[in-house]
This record gives sequence, C-alpha cells and structure tokens, in this order.
Amino acid sequence: MQTHHHPLIAPALGTARQVTSFHYGQPGGKKVYVQASLHADELPGMLTAWALRRKLAALEAAGKLRGEVVVVPVANPIGLNQRWLGHLIGRFESNTAQNFNRNFYDLTALVLPRIESRLGPDADANRDAIRTAMGEALATQTPKTEIESQRLALQRLSYDADIVLDLHCDWEAAMHIYTNPELWPEVEPLARYLDAKASLLALDSVGNPFDEIHSFCWSELRERFGQRFPIPHSSISVTVELRSQRDVSHEFAEHDAQAIVEYLTGYGVIDGAAAPLPPLAHPATPLAGTEPIVAPASGVIVFRAECGAWIEAGAPIADIVDPLTDTLTTLHAGVSGVMYARHSARFATAGMEVARIAGDKPIRTGSLLSL
Ligand SMILES: [Zn+2]
Repeated sequence: MQTHHHPLIAPALGTARQVTSFHYGQPGGKKVYVQASLHADELPGMLTAWALRRKLAALEAAGKLRGEVVVVPVANPIGLNQRWLGHLIGRFESNTAQNFNRNFYDLTALVLPRIESRLGPDADANRDAIRTAMGEALATQTPKTEIESQRLALQRLSYDADIVLDLHCDWEAAMHIYTNPELWPEVEPLARYLDAKASLLALDSVGNPFDEIHSFCWSELRERFGQRFPIPHSSISVTVELRSQRDVSHEFAEHDAQAIVEYLTGYGVIDGAAAPLPPLAHPATPLAGTEPIVAPASGVIVFRAECGAWIEAGAPIADIVDPLTDTLTTLHAGVSGVMYARHSARFATAGMEVARIAGDKPIRTGSLLSL
C-alpha cells in the first residue's frame, strides 16, 4: 500500500488542506477508484471506505490483489470544515454556492482537440490512447481556486480507472445507486451485493457530477467516432447512495465494504470466488421516471411511508399539517415504485420536495438531479 498526498490551493493565508489517497496492489492491470463523502456531511461512505481499506490491506498481504485499488476516504476536506452555528454544512461550497458534486472537468471536451488522429482499428489501443489524452489534458489544467484544485486532484486519480465508485448518501434513504444505462449489465452485480432497493439510470443528467464525467465521455466519444473507430466503454462508474445521513454503523460499513469486495472479486480484481449473487430487489428504472413528491403548502411533515417501501400509485406518502388553519393535506404517489429517499426535515415550506419515488416510465426531462 502506498499513501499519496495531494495539496489543494490554499484559499487563505495560513491554511492548507490536502486530499489523501491510498493505493493497494500494483498499477498496470485493472484499476478501481473508490472515493467517499464528496458532499462532506455524508459520513456512511467514509466509514465504509475505512472498512474497505482494512479488507484491502488483508487481501494485499495475502497476495490476492490482481490490479490496483485506489481509496480516497475523505474526498472533500473543504466541506468538512464548513460549519454554521454548530452544524456541519456539506453539499455546497459556502464561498461559491457550488455543489461539490457538479462541474467536474469535462473529459470529452478536454480530449476532443487531440484524439481523432490517434484513433485506429484496435479497441484496446483506442482506450489507451483516449486515457493517455485525458491524462495529458488534465495535467495541463491550472486551477485557480481551492475547489477547482480539489476537483482536479480527484480526477487525476480517477480518470483512467476501469471502475469508479463514488460513495454518497441521502437525507433519509434506502440503499440506491445511480449509473449509466449502457453500464447497467456490468453494474447489476454491485446492486445485488449492496442490496440496492432502487437503481436509477441516466446517460447525462446534466451538471457534470463525478460519476457521469467518467462514463458519459465514453458514450459521447463512441457517438462521435464509433462508426469509424471501435471505442470500448471503459469506465464502470457508479454513484452509491449508502442509505441515510445518520446510517453510520459498523454493521452497515462492514456489509457495504464486503459488497464492494464481492463485486471486485467477481470482476477479477480480487483473487477468489465471489459470493453467490443475491437477488435484485427491484429492476433498474430511469432517473427520468422518478417522481418528486412536493408539499403544496407549508406545515408539519408527517410521513406515512417508509424509505425502501414499494408504493402503489395513489397511496399516501405524507400529511402536511397546518395547525393554524386546521388543514391537513395528504400527499399521494402519482406513480408506482420504491420510495427510495425522503427529506430529513419535518417542516415543509411551500413547494418543497419531501420524497422521491422510482417510477419505471420517464416523466421528466432536462436536469434530473436536484440542486
Ligand atoms: Zn451526496
């Protein structure tokens, strides 16, 4: 195992932060990249990454690693230091209001000016050429701010990985994942090992979140050049939502780290026989099919359905209670599917989204992710 430190631009005099990466196995073969807590106040992934590191150390000592596994347990030291009146504030950078999981460097745009003349008839050679071009382009970037330098540090570690796992969580949620529809057959075993209750598929949900910049660029390059040059899909990239913000426990971390080990064993990066595939809880559904359940007026939120439950269209999700006018408004599901996430607040402002249901038919377009 090797440890590397990646200094970020110091935003103010007298401060210094860095991203730390742990590298198991040997580079040169398959590469896996796992990062946690990009949104800072999402801690289940950080604990899972720690549990995973212990497993990887044992596997490495036993000579069972066939590739390289890079783990970044603390992907966002900037966000971890954001506090407001005693509360940790993740997700957005306080200085710019930018979401920490948006605006990553667009790999397609970076490689387009330099890639066409390097492509040929061999798919493996094309993959190598594209990755080389990505590495060259990333090496020439000159970030100006701390957050830009953080994004670049993470991408320099991840751009050439065959598997990219970005460990997040939601406010209150059942285990669920986001990935590219073209990758679903290769991601499905991970969903089974994790026991994901929803698997949400989107090619490009707009905004350049971390997992999509890895997978979308290969889809886009295939679209542009695929008729003339074979371009394999070369990044199995997944956002894993490890349940709720407060679901931090050794039991969950052990389960989730072991699920990743089983998946990597099945993929061949870890020597041995993977555990039998558990059943998939529910088929994958389009991210465009998710229904936001919105409170039309302000009031106290009283949920009537649990995360992870299957909801039939028309079933009650929550009551919004206005104690001043003695008004009780019941919110109902418009589609059938798993209610995979809900707000952690119990007070609704007018128009606030309080829950999400994974419907199986596309009903939305445009930017599919929340802010
Ligand atoms: Zn997140």
